[in-house]
Amino acid sequence: MKWPRGVDGLCYGGDYNPEQWPEDVWREDVALMRRAGVNLVSVGVFAWSRLEPEEGRYTFDWLDRVLDLLDAGGVKVALATPTASPPPWFSLAHPDALPVRADGTRLLHGSRDTYCASAPAYREACRRIARELARRYADHPAVALWHVHNEYGTVCHCDHAAAAFRAWLRDRYRTLDALNDAWTTAFWSQHYADWAYVFPPRATQYLPNPGQVLDFRRFWSDELLAAYVEQRDVLRAAGPDVPVTTNYVFGAWVPVDHARWAREVDLVAIDHYPSDAGPGAEEETAFAADLARSWAGGRPWLLMESAPNLVYTGGRMHAKEPGRMARHSLSHVARGSRGAMFFQWRAPRGGPNASTRPSYRTPGRTAGCTGKPSNWVRRSAASPKWTPVRWRRAWPSPGAPPRGGRCKGRDCRGTGSTTWPRCGPRTGPCGGWASRPTSCRWTGPGRSRTSCWSSPPTT
Ligand SMILES: [Zn+2]
Repeated sequence: MKWPRGVDGLCYGGDYNPEQWPEDVWREDVALMRRAGVNLVSVGVFAWSRLEPEEGRYTFDWLDRVLDLLDAGGVKVALATPTASPPPWFSLAHPDALPVRADGTRLLHGSRDTYCASAPAYREACRRIARELARRYADHPAVALWHVHNEYGTVCHCDHAAAAFRAWLRDRYRTLDALNDAWTTAFWSQHYADWAYVFPPRATQYLPNPGQVLDFRRFWSDELLAAYVEQRDVLRAAGPDVPVTTNYVFGAWVPVDHARWAREVDLVAIDHYPSDAGPGAEEETAFAADLARSWAGGRPWLLMESAPNLVYTGGRMHAKEPGRMARHSLSHVARGSRGAMFFQWRAPRGGPNASTRPSYRTPGRTAGCTGKPSNWVRRSAASPKWTPVRWRRAWPSPGAPPRGGRCKGRDCRGTGSTTWPRCGPRTGPCGGWASRPTSCRWTGPGRSRTSCWSSPPTT
């Protein structure tokens, strides 16, 4: 574990997106950060189109000014590589690098995460922008941490992915006989006589082969990890003093083996947004924090993002009542997070996330009423009250086909966010885990955020 360079004690701050605001607002931001005791902000997470508006033409001047301002204000920076959201020119020039759904639909530019991690052009563009950022900012005094990409998890089923999947399978099974045996392809006439016949689990008429689905999930975790490692190595080569990490995200849609990834990051960092507005949010928070502690091997880790005042679930925004943000933050800190970070410092002026409330001023006031983390938060961090249980993650379980199956059980509970295993019967083939009695609203793949499938919990 390496800690952000130049940051002492708890990290306190969040995502800061100055590119969304006029420059005259930046000075006020930094002054308010100082008052709130902010010491670390994530910058540039979605700024690729502002940093490289055309291929090979870089516009770093505004980022120079932002980093200088933050440095003068004593605020350190987790500088992001902006690769989670390629700019328009890239998607136009490389349509084969746009992601393809299981049903064959190629998604177009216009949102975020419109990339395919198997596309050679995308991987090359990522290395290039990472190299340019490293060359310019590795020695900047404000840069304390490299924040690679954002919330790795986007899946693609295109032909690039198919070719890479076959290579991964050949490495894993060596022979087609071994693959056919592992996937039980004698069932429903799926026997493969040539590697070229094997594809990602694309949309099909009825139930997919669970072995194929499971292996594709394993493969995609490795493919995303390879993309991360490429950027990490570029950044490390520019200056080994700045640690490198990426922010893990939770959810049934995330095909990432976070425990395995933990060996490749300098610091385990998670984003956590409970998907339950009720008491379940506290359960999810505790479980996510214990998972992070496990991934970090008992060493300190970092809550990189959390929501200061809202829980989004079921298509609605629920306001956190006073004190809840502090309770969630302390739950993370008590389980080993050396800090609490939020999304985001200032609300966006518009755009798809316009309804996301800012963390502006809120964290400081709530956590300590003085604008700074209170002493009892620091004491909690100094002597975490850990539960005697350490989660071990059997990922991914062959008993829980991802996104397959169907659950109608009353007591199945699994959400689009962190899942919470409890003792009790598992219901049906969906892989959901029993919890308090509640109705399952999910009826098919991708139909709801309340999917019953969960990344298999551990025992
Ligand atoms: Zn693809």
